[in-house]
Amino acid sequence: MPDCLFCRLAAGEVPASIVYEDAQLVAFKDITPQAPTHVLIIPRRHIATLNDLGAGDEALVGEMTRRAAAIAKEQGLAERGYRVVFNCNADAGQTVFHIHMHLLGGRRLGWPPG
Ligand code: 5GP
Ligand code: ZN
Repeated sequence: MPDCLFCRLAAGEVPASIVYEDAQLVAFKDITPQAPTHVLIIPRRHIATLNDLGAGDEALVGEMTRRAAAIAKEQGLAERGYRVVFNCNADAGQTVFHIHMHLLGGRRLGWPPG
């Protein structure tokens, strides 16, 4: 595994404002928030991009999605709405190559995205 920022963050070696963690997942506030709520949900296990998901990762991705919905609810976003996004590789602007689900909410979000 390359030296990976989000592996180090999940290991507690990089400080973060953690909103949830368990044996599989960590969720923390984005350091450059793009909305009033901007949380990143990551697996502890290093997976570089969505292209690297394997057979058997369905449950992990499902856990990430359900956790995003639970955090959105805790933050009062469930009814008004929110967005979850994975960026994959250059055209989507992925900058950290350890998969992360963005949870964005608390303002009206434009569509289509830029
Ligand atoms: P990407 O563009 O790869 O989908 O998103 C990476 C996200 O990670 C960006 O929104 C960026 O602000 C966030 N980020 C980068 N470095 C750090 C960090 O050290 N701590 C936290 N909390 N977020 C980070
Ligand atoms: Zn990693």
